[in-house]
Amino acid sequence: MTIYDTEDLEAIRQQTRRFVEEKVVPQADEWENAGRVPPEILKEMGAIGFFGLRVPEEYGGVGLGALASVVFAEELGRSTYGGFSITALVHSDLAMPYLLNFGSPEQKAQWLPSMVAGETITAIAVTEPDAGSDVAAIRTRATRDGDGWRINGSKMFITNGGIADLVFVAVRTNPEDKGSRGLSIIAVPREAEGFTVSRALHKMGWHSSDTAELSFSDCWVPDDHLIGSANRGFYYIMENFQNERLVIAAQAIGETTRAVELTLEHVRDRKAFGKPLFDKQVIRHRLAMASARLEAARQLVYHTAWLMEQGTETVKEVSMVKALVGELANDVLYDCVQFHGGMGFISETAVERLYRDVRIHSIGGGATEVMLDEIAKRL
Ligand SMILES: Cc1cc2nc3c(=O)[nH]c(=O)nc-3n(C[C@H](O)[C@H](O)[C@H](O)COP(=O)(O)OP(=O)(O)OC[C@H]3O[C@@H](n4cnc5c(N)ncnc54)[C@H](O)[C@@H]3O)c2cc1C
Repeated sequence: MTIYDTEDLEAIRQQTRRFVEEKVVPQADEWENAGRVPPEILKEMGAIGFFGLRVPEEYGGVGLGALASVVFAEELGRSTYGGFSITALVHSDLAMPYLLNFGSPEQKAQWLPSMVAGETITAIAVTEPDAGSDVAAIRTRATRDGDGWRINGSKMFITNGGIADLVFVAVRTNPEDKGSRGLSIIAVPREAEGFTVSRALHKMGWHSSDTAELSFSDCWVPDDHLIGSANRGFYYIMENFQNERLVIAAQAIGETTRAVELTLEHVRDRKAFGKPLFDKQVIRHRLAMASARLEAARQLVYHTAWLMEQGTETVKEVSMVKALVGELANDVLYDCVQFHGGMGFISETAVERLYRDVRIHSIGGGATEVMLDEIAKRL
């Protein structure tokens, strides 16, 4: 429970939980092996309305705020399949917001309804081989050519890169401006000439999430694919990072909470030295402390979402949430695997998968060290 819970949020929680139990868990091992989530399941999610939580009614959504995303992400996280969760969340909460927050009414009318329906899947491509934490270092260029833009460069580690129908690409549109100035966001359709998925990347975790390296070689898109204003891209990225980091933290809270529940079941059931493992004080104390830390972090996630809904500037709180939860998830999953004993090392257990899946939470979308610097600047 949080003081921010409402009937709407509880309905989203229950609906997502039911969907996860009925449609995700029974099939997700196959997706892990295949390295991607099938488009049909994303369409099914779209048909239910999961991708329209933040989208205004005129474009097919229900126009809710950050708390709705947090509840949705937390429940997806509880599925214990991080690869599936991030596939859906990159579409709904990391990529689509570029159009939602900065697109023109014409662009929204053109694309949003099919994105909400899960028929047009999206990705956001900021990171490059030589620019990750330091977004201002990106080099992919877009130059004016006729009534459009010609793009050259490459992008690295792009979630949904191989399955997306439309990719929001961060490019340098003004070569004179170095650093954070002169960046823009351009929507590139999968079929654009000169755009290729150069390779799929195999990963430690998130196996069902498609992660790709993208290449742009004289790729041309028309003017109306520029999102918002030219040279305002850095500002757009920094603004959207706040929702992205909050939502990923909510996913991690769901994953870690479920891992603790599964570990509690295991240690209550499993006997060693004549008694359940739970009777060992060291084990139940570790799990009690994990639960306390998780509850505190969860309340901060919800509170930060509420602050965001009030229109308050939340960079400090979001950075706190991202740093705290990324590290917490890793600490707690270490213990969950430990208390499962040998079974925790066996691939058929959820904690083994989650241990691998949560590793990214202290790196991706803002590494812990970068988040700590954001907090420190605001102390
Ligand atoms: C599975 C996966 C999916 C991803 N999906 C996407 C996506 O969809 N779109 C996208 O654009 N990107 C995506 N990324 C990229 C991700 O956001 C970056 O990997 C992340 O921002 C870190 O950048 P980097 O890998 O270049 O690490 P670097 O920037 O090289 O940093 C390496 C390490 O150095 C340390 N470090 C960095 N900066 C500082 C600092 N200021 N002070 C102290 N220490 C520091 C941190 O420990 C950091 O982990 C994804 C990455 C992965 C692995």
